[in-house]
Formats: sequence, structure tokens, C-alpha cells
Amino acid sequence: MQLLKRIFFLLCAILLNGWAMAQTKTITVIKAGKLVDTETGKVLANQRILVVNDTIQSVGGDIAIPAGAAVIDLSGETVLPGLIDCHTHLTAQPGDNYYDDIFRKTPIDYAIVAPIYAKRTLEAGFTTVRDVGASSLIDVSLRNAINRGDVPGPRMQVATFFIGSTGSHGDLNGFSPYIEFEQPKGMSGVANGVDEIRKQVRYNIKYGADVIKFGASAGVLTEEESVGSPQYTQEEMNALVDEARLWGKKTCAHAHGTEAIKMAVNAGVVSIEHGSFLDDEAISLMKQHGTYLVADIYNDEYILSEYKRLGYPDKIINKERLVGKTQRESFRKAVQAGVKIAFGTDAGVYPHGYNGRQFKWMVQFGLTPMQAIQAATINAATLLGWEHKVGSIKTGKLADIIAVKENPLDNVRALETVGFVMKDGKVYKNETTAKP
Ligand SMILES: [Zn+2]
Repeated sequence: MQLLKRIFFLLCAILLNGWAMAQTKTITVIKAGKLVDTETGKVLANQRILVVNDTIQSVGGDIAIPAGAAVIDLSGETVLPGLIDCHTHLTAQPGDNYYDDIFRKTPIDYAIVAPIYAKRTLEAGFTTVRDVGASSLIDVSLRNAINRGDVPGPRMQVATFFIGSTGSHGDLNGFSPYIEFEQPKGMSGVANGVDEIRKQVRYNIKYGADVIKFGASAGVLTEEESVGSPQYTQEEMNALVDEARLWGKKTCAHAHGTEAIKMAVNAGVVSIEHGSFLDDEAISLMKQHGTYLVADIYNDEYILSEYKRLGYPDKIINKERLVGKTQRESFRKAVQAGVKIAFGTDAGVYPHGYNGRQFKWMVQFGLTPMQAIQAATINAATLLGWEHKVGSIKTGKLADIIAVKENPLDNVRALETVGFVMKDGKVYKNETTAKP
């Protein structure tokens, strides 16, 4: 009896202790010299942000500093919400040789380095990403490890397998038909016809997809013919988007060519990725449907300067020459017409962590610096369906907060070197003079 009593008291003590631990609050006050309000497009001076645990409790000019609060003095900096990249591939990056990447690496090689890429992305100021295509479900494992706090990285929405037709951008092309990689059937992402496509969407969701990504048109960095031809019929695209919708998931389409863009927009995708060859009709369709353009207009620089050295076939590099310039002009046209723009870079095509280099190009091709920042914050959050928790520094949202030395409204390239990164109320980087 005595023993039972002791066990009872011990259990009570453990439970109470656990309860007390759960009640412990981490309180931080950030003093922001300038604060970019991405919802109103205004810059506010001398603001304070009260962060309790992972949440922004209040924002304003006259917030008292509670006793015991940590104070982070960013009064010499410009403070912004954490940035969002809507088109990344955190689980890959080109190595030194195109053929080695394909034939000498296993999914485990990619899984080993993925956390390094995730960390670089976070430290570049990107606290949320939409990761749109990975092999072997590495993206799901990475997302889960980040969510558990096992590895540092951005909050992720993942697409798992890129869904594409046989011979498409999502298939492996250019090699002997006798070469075949063995993997569980659904893991190639190759699906043809309405039934197979619906099954693939279900498979992706079953194993952890937050969003569905498919190839509406041919692509650049694979060896199939053309870069713009549609790779699914209208019927197939409609079925794919419809199936994802039934499961409560949004769909985005890889689409370079004009016809494929229109087909994907009509099928009901939330965003067109790349969008290289836009004509007036495609632009007006996108406006009519409220479709976002996620155009990766930085990486042309990187591909044309580095990919020859990495052993990429001329066929691929020539495709980039065909696409890059037109894509930027299409972006300008879309901006002028008022198409919704969200920031997405195709990170993984270039080294992870360079994401911020795209701001310069977005401003050069038509956005104001504030619009470019909004594309990477509040617009991106809305595209992801996460506008209630990220994308602006507002009461009740997650404390994803970054800071830069120079005012990015004067020089948007300031966002290429982010000195302070907080995600979920936790500081991951502080290279400012103000140590907490
Ligand atoms: Zn991509």
C-alpha cells in the first residue's frame, strides 16, 4: 500500500512538473527601427514586436517591455516578415557532373545533404517554402524532421512526386530504353490517362503531399523534345486538378508553353510555374481565374554561366537560351497587366541560399521593391493558403521575422544578405550588432 501511495505521489509530481513546463513562456521584444507592413505596403518607424513563444502577441509603437523579456534591438535595421519561396527543390542541387548525379547517386545521397540545403535556405531569410517536386519522398521526411525540430529549416509544403506523362519533363529522358531504375511503381510520378493520373494524385497524398504538382508542358533541364509543348490532354489536366480538389489539395503546373499554360489555367491550377511564353490571351485567362504566376527569373544567369562546366548536354543549355530571355519579357507583361505574382525561384537549379538574388530581377522587370517584397510574403502566403499564419508581422501570426541592414525599399538587393532570422519565435541567425 505504501508503495502504491509513493507511486501515486511520484506520478502527480511528474504531471505537475510537465504542466508547469508547458506554462513556461518565452517572451521576446524586438525593437524594429523600420518595419515593413506587407499588408498595407507601408514602412513604419520605431515599432516593437512582442513575441510570446512562437506567436506575435502584439505590434506597435508603445508596447511596454514585460519583466523578464529578452530584448532584441534591431533599431538600426529594417525588419520584415520571413520570406517565402513558392518554388524550391530543397532535396537536390546539381553536383559537379550531370551524369554522376543521375547514375552514381542514390536517393540516400540526396537525403544526406537535404538538411544542409534547408539550413542555408532558412539562414537566407526564407522561413517558409513550397517545395514542388522531389524523389523518393525525401521532401516528406525533411518537412517532418523540420517540424519536429530535429533539423533547422524552413516550414515546408511539399508536393512529393512531380506527376508527368511518359517521356515528359517528369520522366527520365535521353537514355537507352534498356536502362531502368527500379523503384516502387508510384515513385516515378509517371502517369498516363485519367485513371492512372487520379491514382497517382491519391498516391502522392497518401504518402504526405500537401500540394500537387504536374507537368503541363515540356521543360528545360531534361532531354525531351521542345520546351513548351503540352504533355497532357485537357481531359487529363482537368481530372488531375479535380482529384486533388476532392482531397482538399491545391494544384500547381509546371508550364512554359503558351498552349499548356492556357490548358492548365482552364483546368483550375492555383499557379503557373515558369510561365515563359505568355500571350495576351494567357494573361487575361490568368487574371480571370486569379491564377498566380510563379516565374523563376533569376536562375537563367546561373544555368548559362555554370551548366556547361557541370557537363549538361548542349541540348539542355540551348533550351535555356531559348527560354530565359522570353520568360523575363513575359513576366514584365504579366506584371503590367496586373496578374497576381508570387515569389518562386526553382532553388535547387542554382545553389540553395541564393534565393534572394531574384528580387533584383523582379524589380528590373516591372515590380516596385514593395511589390517584390509582397510577392515573397503576403502574396506567397495567400497562394499557400497560409495567410492566417505567415506573410506579415501581425498579432496572432507565427513569429517569422527577419532583418536587413540596408532598407530594401531603397535597394532591393539588401534582401540578398539577411542578417537576422527568427522562425517560430526562435532565433536561427543574428549577425546584427544587436545580440539578444
Ligand atoms: Zn522546379
